[in-house]
Amino acid sequence: MSDCLFCKIIAGEIPSKKVYEDDLCYAFYDINPQAPTHFLVVPKEHMQSVSAVTDGNAPVVGHIFAVIARLAGELGFGEAGYRVVSNIGEAGQQTVPHLHFHVLAGRDMTWPPG
Ligand code: AMP
Ligand code: ZN
Repeated sequence: MSDCLFCKIIAGEIPSKKVYEDDLCYAFYDINPQAPTHFLVVPKEHMQSVSAVTDGNAPVVGHIFAVIARLAGELGFGEAGYRVVSNIGEAGQQTVPHLHFHVLAGRDMTWPPG
């Protein structure tokens, strides 16, 4: 999608600090980190949010979770624990309308979230 910030990041038109990339997804550090480790994992195919996930594109989402689990192990926070968050729409405080999963680690999280 030509006017989408994360599509531009995936295409390399806007710089980002890459964590991981494969054919289906791209992971990069959040510009405004909310934890010692905070990166985003996005599908390369544009889709708006979790609300746009269907049986047809769900395999990409499953793949993203497998990537998150692997990165958690490789980056050393898998055992301590971490949080994966996806904000959806206005009430969910989603600010970038391209599906993304926040991966937050390196501190104890609080509950309920704000
Ligand atoms: P959300 O508010 O859930 O839609 O998350 C969007 C996230 O994208 C926020 O945590 C922002 O800090 C992050 N963000 C916005 N612009 C950039 C950028 N250019 N590079 C990296 N992260 C960004
Ligand atoms: Zn996009």
